Amino acid sequence: MEVSGHGGSRVRVRLAPSPTGFVHIGNVLVALVDAAIARKFNGAFVIRIEDTDQKRFLEGAEQLIYDSLAWLGIEWQEGPDRGGPFAPYRQSERLPRYLEVAEQLVAQGDAYRCWCSPERLDEMRKAQQAAKLPPKYDRLCLGKSETERQAFGGYTERSVVRLRMPDTGHTTFTDPIRGEMSFENALLDDRVLLKSDGFPTYNLAVVVDDHEMEITHAIRGEEWLPSTPAHLRVYEALDWTPPVIAHTPLLLNADRGKISKRKHPWANMRWFQDEGFLPEAVLNYLGNLIAFVPDAENPQQGVARELFGFAEISEHFQLGSIGPSGKVVDLDRLDWLNGQYIRRMALDELARRVGPFMTAAGLDTGNPIFMGALALEQERLKRLSEAPSVLSIFFREEAYAPEALVPKGVTPEVARQMLDGAISVCEGVAATGEWTAETLEAPFRDLAIALDLTTGKQRGQLFGVVRVASTGRTATPPLFDTMAILGAETILKRLAHARLLLAGLGV
Ligand code: GLU
Repeated sequence: MEVSGHGGSRVRVRLAPSPTGFVHIGNVLVALVDAAIARKFNGAFVIRIEDTDQKRFLEGAEQLIYDSLAWLGIEWQEGPDRGGPFAPYRQSERLPRYLEVAEQLVAQGDAYRCWCSPERLDEMRKAQQAAKLPPKYDRLCLGKSETERQAFGGYTERSVVRLRMPDTGHTTFTDPIRGEMSFENALLDDRVLLKSDGFPTYNLAVVVDDHEMEITHAIRGEEWLPSTPAHLRVYEALDWTPPVIAHTPLLLNADRGKISKRKHPWANMRWFQDEGFLPEAVLNYLGNLIAFVPDAENPQQGVARELFGFAEISEHFQLGSIGPSGKVVDLDRLDWLNGQYIRRMALDELARRVGPFMTAAGLDTGNPIFMGALALEQERLKRLSEAPSVLSIFFREEAYAPEALVPKGVTPEVARQMLDGAISVCEGVAATGEWTAETLEAPFRDLAIALDLTTGKQRGQLFGVVRVASTGRTATPPLFDTMAILGAETILKRLAHARLLLAGLGV
Protein backbone atom coordinates (compact mmCIF):
# COMPACT_ATOMS: atom_id res chain seq x y z
CA MET A 1 0.00 0.00 0.00
CA GLU A 2 1.28 3.40 -0.96
CA VAL A 3 1.20 6.33 1.42
CA SER A 4 -1.24 9.03 0.49
CA GLY A 5 -2.94 11.83 2.27
CA HIS A 6 -5.26 10.69 5.00
CA GLY A 7 -8.80 11.78 4.27
CA GLY A 8 -7.31 14.26 1.80
CA SER A 9 -5.29 16.05 4.47
CA ARG A 10 -1.59 16.75 4.43
CA VAL A 11 0.62 13.83 5.43
CA ARG A 12 1.82 14.16 9.02
CA VAL A 13 4.08 11.62 10.69
CA ARG A 14 5.68 11.59 14.12
CA LEU A 15 8.41 10.02 16.15
CA ALA A 16 7.29 9.62 19.74
CA PRO A 17 10.41 8.76 21.71
CA SER A 18 10.63 8.41 25.47
CA PRO A 19 13.62 10.29 26.86
CA THR A 20 15.45 7.38 28.47
CA GLY A 21 19.00 8.56 27.83
CA PHE A 22 19.50 5.87 25.22
CA VAL A 23 18.68 6.37 21.54
CA HIS A 24 17.97 2.93 20.15
CA ILE A 25 18.96 2.27 16.56
CA GLY A 26 15.44 0.92 15.97
CA ASN A 27 14.00 4.32 16.86
CA VAL A 28 16.37 5.95 14.42
CA LEU A 29 15.17 3.61 11.68
CA VAL A 30 11.59 4.69 12.40
CA ALA A 31 12.71 8.33 12.31
CA LEU A 32 14.24 7.76 8.89
CA VAL A 33 11.00 6.21 7.64
CA ASP A 34 9.11 9.23 9.01
CA ALA A 35 11.46 11.74 7.47
CA ALA A 36 11.40 9.93 4.12
CA ILE A 37 7.60 9.94 4.04
CA ALA A 38 7.41 13.59 5.07
CA ARG A 39 9.85 14.57 2.32
CA LYS A 40 8.27 12.40 -0.34
CA PHE A 41 4.76 13.69 0.27
CA ASN A 42 5.70 17.20 1.25
CA GLY A 43 4.27 16.54 4.67
CA ALA A 44 5.41 17.28 8.19
CA PHE A 45 7.57 15.22 10.52
CA VAL A 46 6.80 15.88 14.16
CA ILE A 47 8.83 14.90 17.20
CA ARG A 48 6.74 14.36 20.27
CA ILE A 49 8.44 13.57 23.55
CA GLU A 50 6.63 10.87 25.51
CA ASP A 51 7.81 11.69 29.01
CA THR A 52 4.89 10.60 31.14
CA ASP A 53 6.81 7.80 32.81
CA GLN A 54 8.23 9.83 35.69
CA LYS A 55 10.50 7.04 36.86
CA ARG A 56 12.35 6.84 33.58
CA PHE A 57 12.90 10.54 33.01
CA LEU A 58 16.52 11.51 32.54
CA GLU A 59 18.16 14.90 32.33
CA GLY A 60 19.66 15.64 28.90
CA ALA A 61 17.95 12.64 27.33
CA GLU A 62 15.74 14.74 25.08
CA GLN A 63 18.71 16.61 23.65
CA LEU A 64 20.37 13.29 22.96
CA ILE A 65 17.48 12.37 20.68
CA TYR A 66 17.74 15.62 18.72
CA ASP A 67 21.51 15.30 18.50
CA SER A 68 21.37 11.75 17.17
CA LEU A 69 18.91 12.64 14.44
CA ALA A 70 20.71 15.86 13.57
CA TRP A 71 24.00 13.96 13.37
CA LEU A 72 22.48 11.77 10.67
CA GLY A 73 21.01 14.75 8.86
CA ILE A 74 17.43 13.72 9.58
CA GLU A 75 15.21 16.79 9.69
CA TRP A 76 11.94 17.41 11.47
CA GLN A 77 9.57 20.35 11.25
CA GLU A 78 7.75 20.40 14.59
CA GLY A 79 8.79 19.44 18.08
CA PRO A 80 9.55 20.74 21.57
CA ASP A 81 12.79 22.28 20.32
CA ARG A 82 11.22 24.16 17.42
CA GLY A 83 7.56 24.60 18.29
CA GLY A 84 4.73 24.29 15.80
CA PRO A 85 0.97 24.62 15.47
CA PHE A 86 0.22 21.81 17.94
CA ALA A 87 2.57 22.81 20.76
CA PRO A 88 3.33 21.77 23.41
CA TYR A 89 5.03 18.66 22.02
CA ARG A 90 6.04 17.23 25.39
CA GLN A 91 3.42 15.00 26.96
CA SER A 92 4.25 16.16 30.48
CA GLU A 93 3.00 19.59 29.36
CA ARG A 94 -0.32 18.23 28.09
CA LEU A 95 -1.57 16.47 31.22
CA PRO A 96 -4.96 18.19 31.71
CA ARG A 97 -6.16 17.02 28.32
CA TYR A 98 -5.43 13.34 29.07
CA LEU A 99 -7.30 13.61 32.35
CA GLU A 100 -10.27 15.09 30.58
CA VAL A 101 -10.35 12.31 28.00
CA ALA A 102 -9.95 9.62 30.68
CA GLU A 103 -12.91 11.09 32.54
CA GLN A 104 -14.96 11.17 29.38
CA LEU A 105 -14.20 7.49 28.75
CA VAL A 106 -15.21 6.59 32.31
CA ALA A 107 -18.42 8.60 32.00
CA GLN A 108 -19.26 6.78 28.74
CA GLY A 109 -18.60 3.37 30.27
CA ASP A 110 -15.66 2.71 27.94
CA ALA A 111 -13.25 2.84 30.84
CA TYR A 112 -13.56 2.17 34.57
CA ARG A 113 -11.80 2.89 37.82
CA CYS A 114 -9.76 0.14 39.36
CA TRP A 115 -8.75 0.16 43.04
CA CYS A 116 -6.78 -3.07 43.06
CA SER A 117 -3.55 -2.80 44.98
CA PRO A 118 -0.24 -3.71 43.27
CA GLU A 119 -0.02 -6.68 45.66
CA ARG A 120 -3.40 -8.00 44.58
CA LEU A 121 -2.53 -7.60 40.90
CA ASP A 122 0.69 -9.42 41.51
CA GLU A 123 -1.05 -12.36 43.17
CA MET A 124 -3.60 -12.46 40.38
CA ARG A 125 -0.84 -12.60 37.76
CA LYS A 126 0.96 -15.38 39.59
CA ALA A 127 -2.24 -17.42 39.84
CA GLN A 128 -2.86 -16.90 36.10
CA GLN A 129 0.66 -17.94 35.30
CA ALA A 130 0.33 -21.08 37.41
CA ALA A 131 -2.94 -21.93 35.65
CA LYS A 132 -1.30 -21.14 32.28
CA LEU A 133 -3.90 -18.47 31.54
CA PRO A 134 -3.07 -15.36 29.52
CA PRO A 135 -2.21 -12.41 31.80
CA LYS A 136 -5.27 -10.25 31.95
CA TYR A 137 -6.98 -8.10 34.56
CA ASP A 138 -9.81 -10.15 36.12
CA ARG A 139 -12.19 -7.18 36.30
CA LEU A 140 -12.86 -7.34 40.01
CA CYS A 141 -13.51 -3.57 39.96
CA LEU A 142 -15.63 -3.46 36.84
CA GLY A 143 -19.16 -2.25 37.55
CA LYS A 144 -18.44 -1.48 41.21
CA SER A 145 -18.53 1.83 43.04
CA GLU A 146 -15.62 2.58 45.33
CA THR A 147 -17.69 1.65 48.40
CA GLU A 148 -18.75 -1.63 46.86
CA ARG A 149 -15.15 -2.42 45.96
CA GLN A 150 -13.91 -1.75 49.48
CA ALA A 151 -15.75 -4.81 50.70
CA PHE A 152 -13.26 -6.97 48.76
CA GLY A 153 -9.63 -7.60 49.56
CA GLY A 154 -6.65 -5.89 47.94
CA TYR A 155 -8.22 -2.42 47.89
CA THR A 156 -6.21 0.78 47.64
CA GLU A 157 -7.57 4.28 47.44
CA ARG A 158 -5.04 5.17 44.76
CA SER A 159 -7.15 4.16 41.79
CA VAL A 160 -6.23 3.86 38.13
CA VAL A 161 -8.46 4.04 35.06
CA ARG A 162 -8.66 0.99 32.84
CA LEU A 163 -9.91 0.69 29.29
CA ARG A 164 -12.78 -1.70 28.90
CA MET A 165 -12.11 -4.05 25.98
CA PRO A 166 -15.01 -5.79 24.23
CA ASP A 167 -15.74 -9.34 25.42
CA THR A 168 -16.31 -10.79 21.98
CA GLY A 169 -15.37 -10.26 18.35
CA HIS A 170 -12.08 -9.20 16.81
CA THR A 171 -10.14 -5.98 16.45
CA THR A 172 -8.92 -5.80 12.89
CA PHE A 173 -6.86 -3.25 11.00
CA THR A 174 -4.66 -3.01 7.94
CA ASP A 175 -1.01 -2.36 8.57
CA PRO A 176 0.61 -1.16 5.32
CA ILE A 177 3.73 -3.16 6.17
CA ARG A 178 2.04 -6.33 7.48
CA GLY A 179 -1.34 -6.50 5.76
CA GLU A 180 -4.49 -7.33 7.68
CA MET A 181 -3.96 -7.84 11.40
CA SER A 182 -6.63 -9.36 13.61
CA PHE A 183 -6.78 -9.80 17.39
CA GLU A 184 -9.35 -11.75 19.38
CA ASN A 185 -10.89 -9.28 21.83
CA ALA A 186 -11.57 -11.86 24.53
CA LEU A 187 -7.83 -12.36 24.89
CA LEU A 188 -7.00 -8.68 25.26
CA ASP A 189 -6.26 -7.06 28.60
CA ASP A 190 -8.12 -4.06 30.04
CA ARG A 191 -5.05 -1.83 29.91
CA VAL A 192 -4.46 1.05 32.30
CA LEU A 193 -5.05 4.44 30.69
CA LEU A 194 -4.51 6.70 33.67
CA LYS A 195 -2.11 5.92 36.51
CA SER A 196 -2.79 6.61 40.17
CA ASP A 197 -0.52 9.68 40.01
CA GLY A 198 -2.85 11.22 37.43
CA PHE A 199 -0.37 10.70 34.60
CA PRO A 200 -1.63 8.98 31.48
CA THR A 201 -0.05 5.78 30.26
CA TYR A 202 1.42 5.57 26.79
CA ASN A 203 -1.79 3.89 25.60
CA LEU A 204 -3.95 6.92 26.35
CA ALA A 205 -1.50 9.72 25.58
CA VAL A 206 -0.44 8.30 22.23
CA VAL A 207 -4.03 8.23 21.00
CA VAL A 208 -4.95 11.69 22.27
CA ASP A 209 -1.82 13.25 20.80
CA ASP A 210 -1.83 11.45 17.47
CA HIS A 211 -5.42 12.61 17.07
CA GLU A 212 -4.93 16.18 18.22
CA MET A 213 -1.68 16.63 16.32
CA GLU A 214 -3.51 15.41 13.20
CA ILE A 215 -1.08 12.59 12.60
CA THR A 216 -2.03 10.73 9.42
CA HIS A 217 0.47 7.87 9.71
CA ALA A 218 1.64 6.50 13.04
CA ILE A 219 4.75 4.48 12.33
CA ARG A 220 6.45 2.58 15.11
CA GLY A 221 8.45 -0.54 15.81
CA GLU A 222 6.96 -4.02 15.81
CA GLU A 223 7.24 -4.22 19.59
CA TRP A 224 4.22 -1.89 19.84
CA LEU A 225 1.96 -4.12 17.76
CA PRO A 226 0.26 -5.75 20.80
CA SER A 227 -0.80 -2.28 22.00
CA THR A 228 -2.54 -1.31 18.79
CA PRO A 229 -5.92 -3.02 19.46
CA ALA A 230 -6.24 -1.01 22.70
CA HIS A 231 -5.45 2.19 20.83
CA LEU A 232 -8.07 1.39 18.20
CA ARG A 233 -10.61 0.78 20.96
CA VAL A 234 -9.88 4.25 22.36
CA TYR A 235 -10.27 5.85 18.93
CA GLU A 236 -13.57 4.08 18.49
CA ALA A 237 -14.86 5.05 21.92
CA LEU A 238 -14.03 8.69 21.23
CA ASP A 239 -15.44 8.55 17.73
CA TRP A 240 -12.11 9.62 16.25
CA THR A 241 -10.69 8.30 12.99
CA PRO A 242 -7.41 6.49 13.68
CA PRO A 243 -4.37 7.25 11.55
CA VAL A 244 -2.84 4.61 9.33
CA ILE A 245 -0.79 2.55 11.79
CA ALA A 246 2.30 0.72 10.56
CA HIS A 247 4.80 -1.39 12.48
CA THR A 248 8.34 -1.49 11.13
CA PRO A 249 10.30 -4.75 11.32
CA LEU A 250 12.63 -5.43 14.22
CA LEU A 251 16.35 -5.07 13.77
CA LEU A 252 18.21 -8.32 14.42
CA ASN A 253 21.75 -9.32 15.28
CA ALA A 254 23.88 -11.47 12.99
CA ASP A 255 22.32 -14.63 14.53
CA ARG A 256 18.89 -13.31 13.58
CA GLY A 257 18.09 -12.79 17.27
CA LYS A 258 16.72 -9.68 18.91
CA ILE A 259 19.35 -7.09 19.64
CA SER A 260 20.02 -6.51 23.29
CA LYS A 261 21.39 -3.33 24.83
CA ARG A 262 23.71 -5.38 26.98
CA LYS A 263 25.18 -7.69 24.35
CA HIS A 264 25.11 -5.39 21.35
CA PRO A 265 26.62 -2.00 22.08
CA TRP A 266 25.52 -0.87 18.63
CA ALA A 267 21.89 -0.93 19.79
CA ASN A 268 22.81 2.54 21.01
CA MET A 269 23.17 5.22 18.32
CA ARG A 270 25.98 6.77 20.33
CA TRP A 271 28.16 3.76 19.53
CA PHE A 272 28.26 4.63 15.83
CA GLN A 273 29.59 8.10 16.58
CA ASP A 274 32.10 6.84 19.11
CA GLU A 275 33.37 4.16 16.74
CA GLY A 276 33.99 6.65 13.98
CA PHE A 277 31.27 5.79 11.52
CA LEU A 278 30.36 8.61 9.21
CA PRO A 279 26.77 9.76 9.46
CA GLU A 280 26.41 9.52 5.68
CA ALA A 281 27.46 5.84 5.81
CA VAL A 282 25.09 5.03 8.67
CA LEU A 283 22.23 6.81 6.91
CA ASN A 284 23.06 4.97 3.69
CA TYR A 285 23.13 1.69 5.59
CA LEU A 286 19.77 2.27 7.28
CA GLY A 287 18.36 3.46 3.95
CA ASN A 288 19.32 0.08 2.48
CA LEU A 289 17.11 -1.62 5.04
CA ILE A 290 14.00 0.33 4.12
CA ALA A 291 14.27 1.34 0.47
CA PHE A 292 15.46 -0.14 -2.79
CA VAL A 293 17.41 2.49 -4.67
CA PRO A 294 18.04 1.40 -8.25
CA ASP A 295 21.40 1.95 -9.85
CA ALA A 296 20.97 4.91 -12.22
CA GLU A 297 23.85 3.86 -14.51
CA ASN A 298 22.59 0.34 -14.65
CA PRO A 299 18.91 0.74 -15.33
CA GLN A 300 18.12 -2.93 -15.80
CA GLN A 301 15.80 -4.14 -13.10
CA GLY A 302 17.01 -5.39 -9.78
CA VAL A 303 20.42 -3.72 -9.66
CA ALA A 304 20.72 -1.75 -6.45
CA ARG A 305 22.77 1.37 -6.04
CA GLU A 306 25.44 1.07 -3.35
CA LEU A 307 25.94 4.66 -2.28
CA PHE A 308 23.09 7.07 -1.81
CA GLY A 309 21.77 9.74 0.49
CA PHE A 310 18.54 10.92 1.99
CA ALA A 311 17.18 12.37 -1.28
CA GLU A 312 17.33 8.94 -2.94
CA ILE A 313 15.91 7.18 0.11
CA SER A 314 12.85 9.41 0.19
CA GLU A 315 12.43 9.33 -3.60
CA HIS A 316 12.33 5.53 -3.71
CA PHE A 317 10.71 4.89 -0.35
CA GLN A 318 7.52 2.81 -0.27
CA LEU A 319 5.99 1.86 3.05
CA GLY A 320 4.50 -1.31 1.57
CA SER A 321 7.87 -2.51 0.30
CA ILE A 322 9.72 -2.62 3.61
CA GLY A 323 8.31 -6.05 4.40
CA PRO A 324 7.49 -7.37 7.86
CA SER A 325 10.45 -9.68 8.48
CA GLY A 326 13.28 -8.67 10.78
CA LYS A 327 16.32 -6.94 9.30
CA VAL A 328 19.78 -8.17 10.21
CA VAL A 329 22.24 -5.42 11.03
CA ASP A 330 25.44 -6.43 9.25
CA LEU A 331 28.33 -4.49 10.74
CA ASP A 332 30.80 -5.86 8.15
CA ARG A 333 28.69 -4.32 5.46
CA LEU A 334 28.57 -1.06 7.36
CA ASP A 335 32.36 -1.11 7.74
CA TRP A 336 32.65 -1.59 4.00
CA LEU A 337 30.27 1.30 3.32
CA ASN A 338 32.08 3.52 5.79
CA GLY A 339 35.36 2.72 4.04
CA GLN A 340 33.79 3.71 0.72
CA TYR A 341 32.77 7.09 2.07
CA ILE A 342 36.15 7.63 3.69
CA ARG A 343 37.92 6.85 0.40
CA ARG A 344 35.81 9.31 -1.53
CA MET A 345 36.26 12.11 0.93
CA ALA A 346 38.56 15.08 0.28
CA LEU A 347 41.66 14.72 2.44
CA ASP A 348 41.00 18.01 4.27
CA GLU A 349 37.52 16.87 5.18
CA LEU A 350 38.78 13.48 6.34
CA ALA A 351 41.39 15.23 8.47
CA ARG A 352 38.67 17.35 10.04
CA ARG A 353 36.58 14.29 10.90
CA VAL A 354 39.49 12.24 12.18
CA GLY A 355 40.73 15.19 14.25
CA PRO A 356 38.75 14.55 17.45
CA PHE A 357 39.82 10.91 17.53
CA MET A 358 43.48 11.87 17.14
CA THR A 359 43.27 14.58 19.77
CA ALA A 360 41.56 12.21 22.22
CA ALA A 361 44.48 9.82 21.72
CA GLY A 362 46.98 12.61 22.39
CA LEU A 363 48.15 12.85 18.76
CA ASP A 364 48.72 16.35 17.41
CA THR A 365 46.97 16.96 14.10
CA GLY A 366 49.02 20.14 13.74
CA ASN A 367 52.08 17.97 13.18
CA PRO A 368 53.16 18.50 9.54
CA ILE A 369 53.43 14.75 9.08
CA PHE A 370 49.73 14.21 9.79
CA MET A 371 48.27 14.95 6.35
CA GLY A 372 50.77 12.75 4.51
CA ALA A 373 50.24 9.90 6.93
CA LEU A 374 46.46 10.24 6.66
CA ALA A 375 46.63 10.26 2.85
CA LEU A 376 48.56 7.01 3.03
CA GLU A 377 45.96 5.40 5.24
CA GLN A 378 42.83 6.80 3.59
CA GLU A 379 42.45 3.79 1.28
CA ARG A 380 42.44 1.33 4.12
CA LEU A 381 40.66 3.12 6.93
CA LYS A 382 37.26 1.65 7.79
CA ARG A 383 36.40 3.53 10.98
CA LEU A 384 37.69 6.93 12.02
CA SER A 385 38.42 5.46 15.44
CA GLU A 386 41.09 3.25 13.90
CA ALA A 387 43.12 6.26 12.80
CA PRO A 388 45.03 6.93 16.05
CA SER A 389 46.33 3.40 16.41
CA VAL A 390 47.24 3.10 12.72
CA LEU A 391 48.79 6.55 12.51
CA SER A 392 50.54 6.71 15.87
CA ILE A 393 53.71 5.23 14.29
CA PHE A 394 54.09 8.56 12.49
CA PHE A 395 53.95 10.52 15.73
CA ARG A 396 56.02 8.60 18.19
CA GLU A 397 58.47 5.77 18.45
CA GLU A 398 56.81 2.73 19.91
CA ALA A 399 58.47 0.35 22.28
CA TYR A 400 58.86 -3.21 21.04
CA ALA A 401 60.77 -6.31 22.09
CA PRO A 402 64.20 -6.77 20.43
CA GLU A 403 63.07 -10.26 19.33
CA ALA A 404 60.53 -8.60 17.02
CA LEU A 405 63.50 -7.58 14.86
CA VAL A 406 64.30 -11.20 14.14
CA PRO A 407 61.82 -12.66 11.64
CA LYS A 408 60.78 -16.30 11.83
CA GLY A 409 63.24 -18.60 10.11
CA VAL A 410 66.13 -16.16 10.42
CA THR A 411 68.96 -16.09 12.98
CA PRO A 412 69.71 -12.92 14.96
CA GLU A 413 72.99 -12.79 13.04
CA VAL A 414 71.20 -12.63 9.67
CA ALA A 415 68.76 -10.05 11.02
CA ARG A 416 71.73 -7.95 12.05
CA GLN A 417 73.22 -8.18 8.52
CA MET A 418 69.89 -7.10 7.08
CA LEU A 419 69.63 -4.16 9.46
CA ASP A 420 73.23 -3.07 8.84
CA GLY A 421 72.54 -3.20 5.12
CA ALA A 422 69.38 -1.14 5.58
CA ILE A 423 71.22 1.45 7.62
CA SER A 424 73.84 1.97 4.91
CA VAL A 425 71.14 2.12 2.19
CA CYS A 426 69.28 4.77 4.18
CA GLU A 427 72.44 6.76 4.86
CA GLY A 428 73.21 6.68 1.14
CA VAL A 429 69.72 7.86 0.12
CA ALA A 430 69.69 10.51 2.83
CA ALA A 431 73.01 11.85 1.51
CA THR A 432 71.47 12.44 -1.94
CA GLY A 433 68.86 14.74 -0.39
CA GLU A 434 66.15 12.89 -2.37
CA TRP A 435 64.31 10.88 0.28
CA THR A 436 61.17 9.47 -1.36
CA ALA A 437 59.44 6.10 -1.66
CA GLU A 438 60.90 5.76 -5.16
CA THR A 439 64.48 6.67 -4.24
CA LEU A 440 64.33 4.20 -1.35
CA GLU A 441 62.87 1.30 -3.26
CA ALA A 442 65.61 0.71 -5.86
CA PRO A 443 68.61 0.53 -3.48
CA PHE A 444 66.64 -1.75 -1.18
CA ARG A 445 66.05 -4.11 -4.11
CA ASP A 446 69.81 -3.97 -4.77
CA LEU A 447 70.46 -4.71 -1.11
CA ALA A 448 68.34 -7.86 -1.35
CA ILE A 449 70.47 -9.01 -4.29
CA ALA A 450 73.70 -8.15 -2.48
CA LEU A 451 72.57 -10.17 0.54
CA ASP A 452 71.65 -13.03 -1.80
CA LEU A 453 67.99 -12.91 -0.81
CA THR A 454 66.54 -14.53 -3.91
CA THR A 455 63.07 -15.75 -2.89
CA GLY A 456 60.04 -13.59 -2.15
CA LYS A 457 60.03 -14.98 1.34
CA GLN A 458 63.62 -13.91 1.99
CA ARG A 459 62.94 -10.42 0.66
CA GLY A 460 59.89 -10.35 2.91
CA GLN A 461 62.14 -11.11 5.86
CA LEU A 462 64.41 -8.19 4.95
CA PHE A 463 61.51 -5.78 4.64
CA GLY A 464 60.10 -7.22 7.87
CA VAL A 465 63.26 -6.23 9.74
CA VAL A 466 63.18 -2.75 8.19
CA ARG A 467 59.48 -2.36 8.97
CA VAL A 468 59.84 -3.25 12.64
CA ALA A 469 62.98 -1.13 12.98
CA SER A 470 61.25 1.87 11.31
CA THR A 471 57.86 1.64 13.02
CA GLY A 472 57.96 -0.91 15.84
CA ARG A 473 55.21 -2.84 14.07
CA THR A 474 54.89 -5.85 11.83
CA ALA A 475 51.97 -4.37 9.86
CA THR A 476 51.97 -0.82 8.53
CA PRO A 477 50.93 1.13 5.45
CA PRO A 478 53.25 0.46 2.45
CA LEU A 479 56.79 0.44 3.80
CA PHE A 480 58.63 2.85 1.53
CA ASP A 481 55.82 5.38 1.62
CA THR A 482 55.82 5.15 5.38
CA MET A 483 59.57 5.65 5.52
CA ALA A 484 59.35 8.56 3.09
CA ILE A 485 56.78 10.35 5.25
CA LEU A 486 58.69 9.71 8.46
CA GLY A 487 61.74 11.35 6.89
CA ALA A 488 65.43 10.42 6.78
CA GLU A 489 66.30 11.81 10.19
CA THR A 490 63.64 9.86 12.09
CA ILE A 491 64.28 6.67 10.17
CA LEU A 492 68.02 6.80 10.72
CA LYS A 493 67.43 7.42 14.41
CA ARG A 494 64.99 4.53 14.70
CA LEU A 495 67.26 2.15 12.75
CA ALA A 496 70.19 3.06 15.01
CA HIS A 497 68.01 2.35 18.02
CA ALA A 498 67.03 -1.03 16.51
CA ARG A 499 70.69 -1.79 16.01
CA LEU A 500 71.29 -1.24 19.74
CA LEU A 501 68.40 -3.56 20.56
CA LEU A 502 69.92 -6.27 18.37
CA ALA A 503 73.28 -5.73 20.05
CA GLY A 504 71.46 -6.49 23.28
CA LEU A 505 70.69 -9.92 21.80
CA GLY A 506 74.42 -10.48 21.43
CA VAL A 507 74.79 -9.90 17.69
N1 GLU B 1 6.92 6.19 23.32
C1 GLU B 1 6.97 5.07 22.43
C2 GLU B 1 8.44 4.76 22.20
O1 GLU B 1 9.20 5.03 23.06
C3 GLU B 1 6.24 5.41 21.16
C4 GLU B 1 5.70 4.28 20.35
C5 GLU B 1 4.86 4.84 19.21
O2 GLU B 1 5.47 5.38 18.29
O3 GLU B 1 3.66 4.77 19.27
O4 GLU B 1 8.88 4.24 21.21
